[in-house]
Amino acid sequence: MTTRFPLVKLRPKEGRRVRAGAPWVFSNEIEMDGPTKALAPGTLVSLADAGGIVLGTGYFNPKSLIAVRLLAGPNAALDQAFFVGKIRRALNLREQLFTSPFYRLVHAEGDGLPGLVADRFGDTLVVQITTAGIENLTETILAAFDEVIAPRTIVLRNDAASRALEGLGLDTRIAKGEAGRVTVEENGIRYFADAAGGQKSGWYYDQRENRAFMARLANGKTVLDAYSYTGGFGILAVAQGARDVVAIDSSEPALDVARAAADENNVGASCHFVKGEVFAELERRAAANERFDVVICDPPPFVRARKDLEPGAKAYRKLARLAAQLVSPGGFLFLASCSHNMPRDRFGIENAAGIARAWRFASEIRDAGAGPDHPVHPNLPETAYLKAMVYALD
Ligand code: SAH
Repeated sequence: MTTRFPLVKLRPKEGRRVRAGAPWVFSNEIEMDGPTKALAPGTLVSLADAGGIVLGTGYFNPKSLIAVRLLAGPNAALDQAFFVGKIRRALNLREQLFTSPFYRLVHAEGDGLPGLVADRFGDTLVVQITTAGIENLTETILAAFDEVIAPRTIVLRNDAASRALEGLGLDTRIAKGEAGRVTVEENGIRYFADAAGGQKSGWYYDQRENRAFMARLANGKTVLDAYSYTGGFGILAVAQGARDVVAIDSSEPALDVARAAADENNVGASCHFVKGEVFAELERRAAANERFDVVICDPPPFVRARKDLEPGAKAYRKLARLAAQLVSPGGFLFLASCSHNMPRDRFGIENAAGIARAWRFASEIRDAGAGPDHPVHPNLPETAYLKAMVYALD
């Protein structure tokens, strides 16, 4: 049978996961014969089982552990019209969830577009490409974004470390328009993001609902926002009635953006942005008997690769202990992990152990994740990467 794209075959007896709806095929599941191995990274392929039955269409990378990522069923054309359809579907979902155009528009596998992430800030789009297959299709995909939302500015943030796994280099550039500081509307207030120079896309939309939850708890209270970045949690809390916030981050450029946003929302006088290393600051403040009614910890990933699980788990436990020490009696503690490689149950266990070592009793009152503009692929638990837990402490 002829297929639109070169045929890549599964080894005998493989394919159970794909038939159940998973979009990933690992290299050990594939018949790596000479012609297959010789396919260039990112080649579009048809995937068939060992018996030759075509299962789907996607892209292939012989260098990657995840050798095939599927985008569509058998014999789909992966052209501009295909991507327009996928982006329209993603947009339609967001438009039902949010009233203004500030959200993650495309969340990779969760939106059926492995290798592609796009964050929208009004008429600015920040696109991140993490696989060779999507990289080869850059122009087609940018044209599809133009067709669906016609952004004034498109920034390509191809600087994710995971690109190395696909044999890709780093490349950040303005594909269209002019980039600078953009406004982010979220939970009724205005923040700023540096789309080209900030971390990730310049903003972490994944914590939107968790920020709102914590702001509700913080009314009339004092807040410590550790790993504040550009002020996502702290500024909202104060704008919604918290007495004041101390926000700590090691990045001065991030704190500058946060200060500007606090002023923009007329809460600058109640926000104290401190450049510092969080572990050291927590230890110092605990020793000085400081207390806060609400303590928020949203650290960078401590488990970057699977092999870092044990040291990373220890770091989460230590952070929970240090942060719990600073919570006033009857206060609240928010602990998050964005590490894909940190399982949710293990994170809960480390938090519990850390809080216990601070000699505090805790009731878990929330076990959440990312907002609905970060949809989870139902066959890939890894896509539920964000863990966000809230505890009430005695
Ligand atoms: N809470 C933020 C996102 C945090 S991202 C929000 O709501 O948007 C993680 C932040 O941790 C980054 O801003 C990074 O600069 C900061 N960071 C990383 N390591 C740090 C350390 N050891 N001490 C203080 N800040 C750190």
